[in-house]
Amino acid sequence: MSEFQDKGGEAPSAAMSNGVEAPAEAMESHSTEEAPKSNEIAEELEAATSKDYYFDSYSHFSIHEEMLKDTVRTLSYKHAIVRNAHLFKDKVVMDVGCGTGILSMFAARAGAAHVIAVECSAIADQAKQIIEDNELSDKITVLKKKCEEIQDDEMPNGITKVDIIISEWMGYFLLYESMLDTVIYARDRWLTEDGILMPNTATLYICAIEDAEYMEQKINFWDNVYGFDMRAIKELALLEPLVDTVEGECVISNAVEILELDLTTCRVEDLRFESTFSLPFQRDDYCHALVAFFDCGFTQLHTPIHFSTGPAAEYTHWKQTVFYLKTPLTVCAGETLSGSISCEPNKGNPRDLDISIAIHFQGSIMHAQGVQRFRLR
Ligand code: SAH
Repeated sequence: MSEFQDKGGEAPSAAMSNGVEAPAEAMESHSTEEAPKSNEIAEELEAATSKDYYFDSYSHFSIHEEMLKDTVRTLSYKHAIVRNAHLFKDKVVMDVGCGTGILSMFAARAGAAHVIAVECSAIADQAKQIIEDNELSDKITVLKKKCEEIQDDEMPNGITKVDIIISEWMGYFLLYESMLDTVIYARDRWLTEDGILMPNTATLYICAIEDAEYMEQKINFWDNVYGFDMRAIKELALLEPLVDTVEGECVISNAVEILELDLTTCRVEDLRFESTFSLPFQRDDYCHALVAFFDCGFTQLHTPIHFSTGPAAEYTHWKQTVFYLKTPLTVCAGETLSGSISCEPNKGNPRDLDISIAIHFQGSIMHAQGVQRFRLR
């Protein structure tokens, strides 16, 4: 998942064309039958105003369209599920945040005995309809609720434990929107001791980039706007990490891990973290920004599956998260940028993240040291 927050990145032209399987499947399921009609849903949708969508963007189909069209994301889940049908056969599955119901339907098709599809936003109404239209209602129960608010007697067929939890909870910078809290909650309440989580690993990385052109457009733009000094906004622009696509050739250092999560054991406290890093530069260049991205793993399988959201990997809707430095560094190959990064949910709005980056650089051409605070919102 990732709430729609397009910051003007490039169109993901490569994403669909590389997802060889997706278009073919879309064709397969095409039907000439009349689309199901639901007056109730249509009436509710008409009544929904932009205010409703502002407070709950997952109610609107467009955000789900973006996620479904992210073939790196959706096919990783599909492959983890349908290529491991033996794990799903006759098992009870919970889909935490089912959206349109896509992952629940993969699990049902893979042979699950029953899937509990939990979704708190209004898209749950469409999920129910979609599941009915695909004749999977006897296998999947949609609970339109916050996961944390499910009463024991609302669980279908008297289910008290689940064998597998599937969830697509990842946000920008992995942790934005803090939905991992909900997965941890579901794990601790319902997952059997030897249960499986999909995915079960997530790793956050950081690296350095050269990005003169974009820094000029997004940050230095405010220095002189039609002859006026708008640096008051530049300060704000520097505070907000930019979610956008970074070209692989912009990367000028190794990438290092700053957070490694084992979802089978991690705790809510682990989601606020502090980590030190040391980034060796690979070439002589300018360093304008640090970039964070994550990988996810489904490794409780015979053949583990991984996907990456890094600059060198195929486009995903998570793009990368760019933290511009107030003062770019002049660096030489072999020199190292050391520093630390800390991250915690904002006290006023726990969906937002307060991130702080401290750097220390002693190069042959320049020295620099300082701390910058960022707010991902
Ligand atoms: N599983 C779908 C949707 C992923 S987006 C897919 O892969 O396409 C994550 C979804 O989780 C959103 O629809 C959001 O509304 C839902 N969600 C977030 N927090 C939740 C909570 N606490 N309880 C139930 N659903 C939640």
